[in-house]
Amino acid sequence: MLQGQVIAHFSAGRLVMLYFVKDNVIHKFPVPQRCGVKRDNEMLRDTIPYTVEKCVYCLNRWPGDDKD
Ligand SMILES: [Zn+2]
Repeated sequence: MLQGQVIAHFSAGRLVMLYFVKDNVIHKFPVPQRCGVKRDNEMLRDTIPYTVEKCVYCLNRWPGDDKD
């Protein structure tokens, strides 16, 4: 039952962004080159908690982001 729900979530045609928290700062995954943080065993998640700082390199929009 739970597995079926996960599959439905990812097949909805929606792009799922992934993040991880390191040292109380949230980063995007995969990590953009300009950030350079190294993810070790931090858990990936698809929501941003309100209790952490946001990495400016990962969470801000930068010139050239649309080219990828
Ligand atoms: Zn970052």
